[in-house]
Amino acid sequence: HNEGLGSWPARRARKTPDTAALVHEERSLSYRDLLDRVSRLARALRGLGIRPGDRVAYLGPNHPSFLETLFATGMLGGVFVPLNTRLTAPEIAYQLDDSGAAVLVHGAAHTALADEVGAPVRVGPDAYEDLLAGADPDPLDVPVALDDPCMIMYTSGTTGRPKGATLTHGNITWNAVNVLIDHDLAADEVALVSAPLFHTAGLNMLTLPVLLKGGTCVLVAAFDPAATLGLIERHRVTFMFGVPTMFQRVAREPGWDAADLSSLRILTCGGAPVPTSLIEVYQRRGLTFLQGYGMTEAAPGTLFLDAAHAVSKAGSAGVPHFFTDVRVVDAAMADVAPGETGEVVVRGPHVMRGYWGRPEETAAAFTDGWFRTGDAARVDADGYAYIVDRIKDVIITGGENVYPAEVEDAILADPDVLECAVIGVPDDAWGEVGRAVVVARPGSGLAPERVLAGLSGRLARYKIPKSAVLAPAIPRNAAGKILKARLRDDYGKP
Ligand code: ATP
Ligand code: MG
Repeated sequence: HNEGLGSWPARRARKTPDTAALVHEERSLSYRDLLDRVSRLARALRGLGIRPGDRVAYLGPNHPSFLETLFATGMLGGVFVPLNTRLTAPEIAYQLDDSGAAVLVHGAAHTALADEVGAPVRVGPDAYEDLLAGADPDPLDVPVALDDPCMIMYTSGTTGRPKGATLTHGNITWNAVNVLIDHDLAADEVALVSAPLFHTAGLNMLTLPVLLKGGTCVLVAAFDPAATLGLIERHRVTFMFGVPTMFQRVAREPGWDAADLSSLRILTCGGAPVPTSLIEVYQRRGLTFLQGYGMTEAAPGTLFLDAAHAVSKAGSAGVPHFFTDVRVVDAAMADVAPGETGEVVVRGPHVMRGYWGRPEETAAAFTDGWFRTGDAARVDADGYAYIVDRIKDVIITGGENVYPAEVEDAILADPDVLECAVIGVPDDAWGEVGRAVVVARPGSGLAPERVLAGLSGRLARYKIPKSAVLAPAIPRNAAGKILKARLRDDYGKP
């Protein structure tokens, strides 16, 4: 009996066989087609020696074969390992080795990279279709329990080397149930999937909940703002997910005012707070955002802000999902008072039980069954949480806590600042002081002193960095997040 994701195609094919499950370019796969292809692939993978518990990795942009490989691996009781296409060859090699992947399925554009990283067995697009054509379409029946591992998904590596979060079939299922409940998904949802499937949000907050409910996912290999408007009209898209910049770029398209957006019902935006100006631009077209906060380890949905509160609670990450418990606590794990800042901790059936092969890091990540997110937040009197920053990045200067995100927001208000990051540097008198690392708009002649002068009166004195330096660029990881540890190495000397 298979309780896991590998049983979803068969269950859907029993209920909605003729509904389109996946659409990609000119191709459409019904749930019956999906079951046929997944069943063939599961048998083919077994033919390659994959047994229950073995790892199967996937490297490529959004494509039906990503989801087929995920479901086929689940059908035979294996563990799926999605890889980020923006990583370098050594980073991918590390994740293949760390997860112990036996097979690497890859897209057409990734053949050279797949050869370079040297997975034991590599399956490119041609071999993939040959394997399917040569396999028996009879679904495998392997026992899989909700507590069995479903995938190893690596964190973004913002605070250190990416860690493989081991997510069970139950983790993924309960997260999808949270989305179905809190985002109110209908059975006929049409999702536009242009966020990468290898990231937790595109996969777990959009695609898998829609496939569980029996809707249609339109897969797009690369996000393109102009093409997005055309796809919304052509497929009558009802549901989209993106980070704020994706929605911003779509709204700046010349075709924005004329586009028919009447089919859109649910827009979810996550990974960063949604600017009020963006909310207003979409409101003028009758559209509101659902916002989200989460992390790979929680599969990922943790807090969400419903559309009705987008303006009244602007800047908030919202309230916990239906089957999620969230607290904001001090170092002794006691709840902090409303308005006070503490660490976000989360508990629920979607939270991983551990990092792959890292018992010490797993033990350190949990206290009394609560996952320590490492994020600082405060909660208002109505129970709405506001994410402040990562605790690791807090600057303690003269006994005061300074959260760099707030200072960075203030610096970015200067139109001559393209990018900025604030770090702490050791200081004899204050313990630590802030330093702003700033990328100036080319030709602006921006001087570091002016950056700091612009902050007086806008931020409390202790929050204003004591120094500023100009930099050619801010180092970011493959998820676009700022690498503070690298900045501290490069610019953090007293
Ligand atoms: P690593 O754990 O490897 O250092 P990472 O934490 O960036 O990397 P992810 O799991 O992709 O890896 O990201 C989760 C983190 O992203 C959260 O812990 C939080 O710091 C940040 N985040 C997610 N959503 C929001 C949001 N709405 N507002 C602010 N920060 C957010
Ligand atoms: Mg993290």
